[in-house]
Amino acid sequence: MANSRFEYVKQYERMDRLLPETYIVIRIDGKGFHKFTKKHEFEKPNDLRCLSLMNAAAKVVMSEFTDIVLAYGDSDEYSFIWSKSTELYERRESKLVSHVCSLFTSAFVFNWTRYFDIPLLSLPSFDGRAVLYPSIFVLRDYLNWRQADCHINNLYNTTFWALIQKGGLTNTKAEEYLKGTVSSQKHEILFSQFHINYNNELEIYKKGSIWVRELEENESAPSKHQKYSTKQKRKMGLRLLHVSIIDNEFWNTRPYLSI
Ligand code: ATP
Ligand code: ATP
Ligand code: MG
Ligand code: MG
Ligand code: MG
Ligand code: MG
Repeated sequence: MANSRFEYVKQYERMDRLLPETYIVIRIDGKGFHKFTKKHEFEKPNDLRCLSLMNAAAKVVMSEFTDIVLAYGDSDEYSFIWSKSTELYERRESKLVSHVCSLFTSAFVFNWTRYFDIPLLSLPSFDGRAVLYPSIFVLRDYLNWRQADCHINNLYNTTFWALIQKGGLTNTKAEEYLKGTVSSQKHEILFSQFHINYNNELEIYKKGSIWVRELEENESAPSKHQKYSTKQKRKMGLRLLHVSIIDNEFWNTRPYLSI
């Protein structure tokens, strides 16, 4: 009811416009997935069904919000990188974070049966936060941090579960065994005890997943200082990659990601 005596309550709402001309990163993370993965008897260390479901849910989010230029996911988390100049919902933090979280969650639930034979036994939910990065340099360091984290966790988990599944150790013994070991020692344990060459593990496990927008091959990409129009973005295909985003090559071949 407009102009009623109740309307003053609106003034209690908080302004939460995010600083303009900064990269908005929205990261979501599954709540209590340690327990969730046990309940649904996930394959350890990596259940490909869930990684594929996470990727499918992230694709839904990217298709809905064309101002997201890139997304990076691993384990039960996904980071969505927005164009610096987005004005969606006047950059209101609560609108952006809550839409990403709820759309991701409903897409995760909606697509569950495409990947799993067993029914959902509990209701998954995801938390979300927005972080602002002022330059491409810090944004890249953010992504480097997530991808390095994926690699470190995967090397640890691969060795940990090999010791249990192939070496017959208990969880506690495997943990003790790995305490204080560096990367090269984990590679060595995998190779000498279990004939596993870590380098041959699937790229999706080692590098995580990256969604980017790409034009069809016959269309030319904008140069460094041009932006894609909304119409162009809608026409672009979404491509899933499992490559290094730490290397310069990823960015040099996609200059339009940096604007
Ligand atoms: P929180 O609510 O604080 O996030 P959490 O239990 O979700 O708690 P995380 O730090 O997010 O803790 O870790 C996610 C857990 O889910 C890890 O134990 C990880 O191994 C597991 N996990 C996530 N995805 C997969 C997958 N595809 N296959 C196997 N395990 C997975
Ligand atoms: P926004 O994304 O800005 O919220 P919106 O279209 O959801 O846009 P709202 O102001 O939230 O706009 O209004 C919700 C709309 O949904 C109204 O048109 C309302 O009449 C309709 N609606 C919601 N619930 C019902 C319902 N149970 N039965 C009939 N119509 C409903
Ligand atoms: Mg956590
Ligand atoms: Mg979690
Ligand atoms: Mg997590
Ligand atoms: Mg509404």
